[in-house]
Amino acid sequence: MKQDKKQLLGRSEASEQIKKIFETVKSIAEKDEVKSSKLLKKARRLVMHYRIKLSKAYKGKFCKKCNTYFIYGKTVRVRNHERKISYSCLNCGAVQRYIY
Ligand SMILES: [Zn+2]
Repeated sequence: MKQDKKQLLGRSEASEQIKKIFETVKSIAEKDEVKSSKLLKKARRLVMHYRIKLSKAYKGKFCKKCNTYFIYGKTVRVRNHERKISYSCLNCGAVQRYIY
């Protein structure tokens, strides 16, 4: 039987990896957008695969459509309106809304 490589990671190891990826992305996002979006894609795959709940700290930090890491004033425009906050991705134009 062939073993799925992805199954080898434990759930807590996976969430550790996600944390690390986000830290890396945070530090390289401004210099390397291509690499950071690739890393974010990987992190999101892990999240889906292990059904890990993405921590609140990471929500609204990247575009769900094109995986661009949000840098205020550079890759995202933030609008605040009546307890709703919207993030417009300047890369692909997608808008995400959160209620707070
Ligand atoms: Zn986008």
